[in-house]
Amino acid sequence: MTDILSMTEQELRHFLEDNGMKPFRASQIFHYLYKENIWKWQDMRLLPQKDRDYLQEKAPLYIPEVVSRLEAPDGTVKLLLRLFDGHTVETVLMRHPYGNSICLSSQVGCAVNCAFCASAKNGFVRNLTTGEMISQLLAFRKYVTSDLHSIVLMGTGEPLLNYDAVIKFMRLIHEKNTFYLGYRNMTLSTSGIVPRMYDLAAEEMPITLAVSLHAPTDELRRKIMPIAERYPLKQVLEAADHYFQETGRKVTFEYILIKDVNCNPNCARKLIELLGGKNILINAIPINDNYDVGLYRPGQKAMRDFVETLQHHGLSVTLRHEMGSKIQAACGQLRIKHLNT
Ligand code: SF4
Repeated sequence: MTDILSMTEQELRHFLEDNGMKPFRASQIFHYLYKENIWKWQDMRLLPQKDRDYLQEKAPLYIPEVVSRLEAPDGTVKLLLRLFDGHTVETVLMRHPYGNSICLSSQVGCAVNCAFCASAKNGFVRNLTTGEMISQLLAFRKYVTSDLHSIVLMGTGEPLLNYDAVIKFMRLIHEKNTFYLGYRNMTLSTSGIVPRMYDLAAEEMPITLAVSLHAPTDELRRKIMPIAERYPLKQVLEAADHYFQETGRKVTFEYILIKDVNCNPNCARKLIELLGGKNILINAIPINDNYDVGLYRPGQKAMRDFVETLQHHGLSVTLRHEMGSKIQAACGQLRIKHLNT
């Protein structure tokens, strides 16, 4: 199937020309898609009828259907979207004081299988196309009344295991004729796929790189992130240092706080040994209670003590305000609920 939403305007020009249409129609089509939110060929009135009919048949546009929509009191909106082949993905809109941010999925399911993550529980299904990532942004157009401020690739999937489609997606939404989003307003979160972190550093795309750390030692990290067997901490940290050197962008380390696992004075001490003196940020994230796997959020005092210990030793740490936790906003929860019904 021809996937128009995965194309740059230049690629669309070639496609139109190769199929007997005028290449200049590409800019009209981009205007309809990205500026006027018109996603039906027959509604693109500037196109000749025969072009509309041809495109309708050969390159049908598919904007995912909203299967389920949840809204939290803080304005967070979570959509479960059905893709053209019936698989579903989650997309979350977060409303911050500085603007709207959308958290996107990059894969259906995930092979990385982190212990605390609902996304991985039914395994990896397939990669999303660039167009399917674009269409997650388009699906939110009716909820976002002001401009999109940022996107985060932190939904379902390991973005660096869908490398080419993700890179193309970020380049495409940076274009003036689409979302015109600055690279500095894009964040990619990885579980630490070391070779691809080096590739990303060479892309000349100064996005924010967030690395899921979640433990200060390989031994503990392997228990909650099986990918740590393949990429030990030393390699992950070297790749993160390299990213900073190449792009000048501070790397964020995500650290999910789990009761009786990694939120204690011993872990704080080891984390200080590991990261002390580095020019990085740490994002501490309280886990949502997960009864299926028996992982729970620590008490407020334990979390505060942990964070303050790190800060006291000069580390730059923020305790993330959990948005939308009342609407199954944790990665994958809504999709799992849908699969089980
Ligand atoms: S946290 Fe991310 S990388 Fe880990 S299993 Fe979930 S989606 Fe995959």
